[in-house]
Amino acid sequence: MPLTFFSEMEAAKVVLNRRTILLVLCVSLSSCALIQPASEGPRNNLLYSVAWQQTAAEYKALYHQGFNLARTRVERALENNSNDDRPLAVISDLDATLLDAADYWGYLIGKDADFFDDGDWDSWIAENRVTATPGALEFLQFCLANNVEVFYVSNRDQGENTDAYALTQLKNLNFPFSDPEHVFILRDTSNKEVLQRQIMERYDVVVLLGDNLNDFSRRYYVTDVEEREALMSEDQEHFGSRYILFPNPTDGHWIRAIYGESEPPPSAENRELLKKAAMRRSWGS
Ligand SMILES: [Mg+2]
Repeated sequence: MPLTFFSEMEAAKVVLNRRTILLVLCVSLSSCALIQPASEGPRNNLLYSVAWQQTAAEYKALYHQGFNLARTRVERALENNSNDDRPLAVISDLDATLLDAADYWGYLIGKDADFFDDGDWDSWIAENRVTATPGALEFLQFCLANNVEVFYVSNRDQGENTDAYALTQLKNLNFPFSDPEHVFILRDTSNKEVLQRQIMERYDVVVLLGDNLNDFSRRYYVTDVEEREALMSEDQEHFGSRYILFPNPTDGHWIRAIYGESEPPPSAENRELLKKAAMRRSWGS
């Protein structure tokens, strides 16, 4: 074999090997760009909760389940003809119980916010973009048709316009009893119990509707996770009977039990607290 031919063969091999190395390197680099390390995780703490609210039929079905239960309780009370002189009534929370704020939460995701923002909430409330939760209007109309009064007890604070905003929202959604005699918005406290007791003195309250244990009793207003769960367990027979609970994965006093406050600021420390909360039970830890 001529020396020149051998040299050409060797040179071709070297070029081929370089190309192979380059090709492998390119594939590896492009794979790295596409596959994020698992440790980076989701970019926004709210993503799963809000995606569930926005897409899961199961989330909406839980509202129907709650209102169906409430209706059954009211029907039974209507049939009972009790000796109680007080008229029948229902007490309900508003936000995340009768009113759906998915639009607000979607807005937060769009601006990459991962914690509740009170300023944005107040602006959003003023724009009156709220909708009714699935089955809410039908249940309220059933109550109206059967002379069962509904009292709305909520805590919100948008300044001097707080009551006006709430009343306008309820009227726009055609909710019955949208008047100052039935709509109570607490601005200075989240303690609903005083007002609820006053209503119960005059009415035979069949069910309380809420998305937060605090909507049923102030005794649940504790920050320790275990204590909160223990108090709930003591009352377990009330859930689905006197207490009708609706799902809320984005806000409420369960948030307060994690951070010590209901509206924690978006900080690295709070994101770490959330991670720890999510790892309370964790395989391998
Ligand atoms: Mg609520």
